[in-house]
Amino acid sequence: MRGWSRRIRVLSLKIVLMCPSKRQLEEKYKYLFKQVAEPTDLCDQRSLSLLLHNAVQIPRQLGEVPSFGGRNIEPSVCSCFQHVSVLCANSIEIDIKHFVEWMRLEPRSMVWLPVLHHVAAAETAKHQAKCNICKEYPFVGFRYRSLKHLNYDMCRSCFFSGRTSKGHKLHYPVVENCTPTTSGEDVRDFTKVLKNNFRSKKYFAKHPRLGYLPLQTVLEDKEILVMQ
Ligand SMILES: [Zn+2]
Repeated sequence: MRGWSRRIRVLSLKIVLMCPSKRQLEEKYKYLFKQVAEPTDLCDQRSLSLLLHNAVQIPRQLGEVPSFGGRNIEPSVCSCFQHVSVLCANSIEIDIKHFVEWMRLEPRSMVWLPVLHHVAAAETAKHQAKCNICKEYPFVGFRYRSLKHLNYDMCRSCFFSGRTSKGHKLHYPVVENCTPTTSGEDVRDFTKVLKNNFRSKKYFAKHPRLGYLPLQTVLEDKEILVMQ
């Protein structure tokens, strides 16, 4: 029992130290998985519980654990294994690929990790773009690009203030960039702008701009369970 609790403390510390590091987000997911998957490179429900239990200690220390579904990590473990069993039936262990796929869906209990990652990356990101509202150029931090209008950018404070200009509406979709964009991303966003110009307001109401994979929790029995 003493060995078990020591393992929990060491694992929590490793996760804390990993969060602000400059490695890619997926590398962070893989690092997490490897902490509990040695030496077989596979992870059963018990090992995943251990990992998630340690991970939720971070929002817990910040007093934010209810926002991420509470301290009970059972729904998260079920969500991960259900996601995997859709791909390969009755799986009792998951591999690193399946874990990363599930984490990419941003399950509620773990969504703080990509958020922290993006905040850390955005702190120093300088965008060669002008904020269409406050006119700052270039600007630092998060960049919000309209997927409805070409070359419509907002800095973080203008985006969250809810101010708009030039016919841009609050329900229009935006993409959040925490690092300067590459030309490939610019092309991808350009195609989204084109598609969005053929979609209706109803579509945007049904598709929230930023989201995560919801999980059923003991605190929120009435929440609808949505598995993607
Ligand atoms: Zn601005």
